[in-house]
Amino acid sequence: MQDIHSYDFNGKRALIRVDFNVPLDKETLEVTDNTRIRAAVPTIKHILDNGGSVVIMSHLGRPKDASEPKFSLKNIVEHTSNVLGVEIKFGGDCIGNEALEMSANLKPGEVMMLENVRYYKQETTGTESFAETLAKHGDVYVNDAFGTAHRAHASTTVVAKFFPNDKMFGFLIEGEIKSADKVLNSNEKPLTAIVGGAKVSSKITIIERLLDKVDNLIVGGGMAYTFVKANGGKVGNSLVEDDYLEMATRILNDAKAKGVNLYIPVDTVIADAFNNDANRKEVVIGEIPDGWMGLDVGSETAKECSDIISNSRLILWNGPMGVFEMENFQDGTVAVANSIVDATSKGAFSLIGGGDSVAAINKFNLADKVSYVSTGGGAMLEYLEGKELPGIKAIRG
Ligand code: AMP
Repeated sequence: MQDIHSYDFNGKRALIRVDFNVPLDKETLEVTDNTRIRAAVPTIKHILDNGGSVVIMSHLGRPKDASEPKFSLKNIVEHTSNVLGVEIKFGGDCIGNEALEMSANLKPGEVMMLENVRYYKQETTGTESFAETLAKHGDVYVNDAFGTAHRAHASTTVVAKFFPNDKMFGFLIEGEIKSADKVLNSNEKPLTAIVGGAKVSSKITIIERLLDKVDNLIVGGGMAYTFVKANGGKVGNSLVEDDYLEMATRILNDAKAKGVNLYIPVDTVIADAFNNDANRKEVVIGEIPDGWMGLDVGSETAKECSDIISNSRLILWNGPMGVFEMENFQDGTVAVANSIVDATSKGAFSLIGGGDSVAAINKFNLADKVSYVSTGGGAMLEYLEGKELPGIKAIRG
């Protein structure tokens, strides 16, 4: 594995896997959110500034094949050229002769973009011969697509084997890995994780792993009510996964045994319908009347969580405290976001890692006031769970 900071790109063609799976306007096919394009700019610019040329490779959406032009990367070539400030040539295909000829003749400072790799089913099946053809586009392979690093696809993983001595991470993946490792592996204390979101079933693995790492684990969102019920509380119509009650009890016991302060809400904002305009009131946790459901944490919980978070040195946030998409049930999530900002301003390191907490921090316009906002939802969750991501292993070896 090479290091992008020290690698000599002079005269080299860099084949870069980026995640340009950006949303497009249904009618005009214009890019409506270019966050992912902007995230790849530092890596592309670095290579160009160091005398290399760049072949951009990505997927867009889930096309069945090339018969679906709305998924063509051609739709984003002009927009990407404008963001980058460099004209980008379009390869027309990702493995055809025309594209191969174009990449073979790229001069230093030039950039081209290949067609959607998912126009070929060999991409997702990770077919080696397809990856081998893709590899012909570059002298060096750079993976900067964190959002797809958990997929063993041809362009994210298999292609790396054709660059045994010339493969590396781009700045984006490097930043994601460093941030996650900093939270999980540095010895600063206290380390607080806030895990929320809809279902406990999708967060079990991360919770179990975090119990070995954190000082405080705050559980919020819909998943909290499974813990409340497991403790014998009344949860009314709140979201509960009855199959996970035993698991919740086990986690509560494990936390105690491991000396982790596992914090379950003490009060909750309840509603008589899943609707922003529903009747609502605040009650003590475990006393939710029939016909009512908990859609946010209560004010006492928000205050106690804020105290814990504001005094933390390392913070990981995955999943909202309530249905933050509805204004009347966003206060708990706002309180968590604000206290993470507060802790960060006092020198803590904060990672907003995966789940809808990324959407929440963006909604509250606080993304630039925390240490790192992950770009890879599923990939970040898997990395935090301790799984080996194929795209990362392919580079590290
Ligand atoms: P996740 O993707 O697992 O982070 O889940 C995020 C979703 O959980 C958001 O769409 C929230 O609206 C939802 N959510 C959070 N709290 C609750 C709750 N108390 N009841 C139902 N859904 C919730």
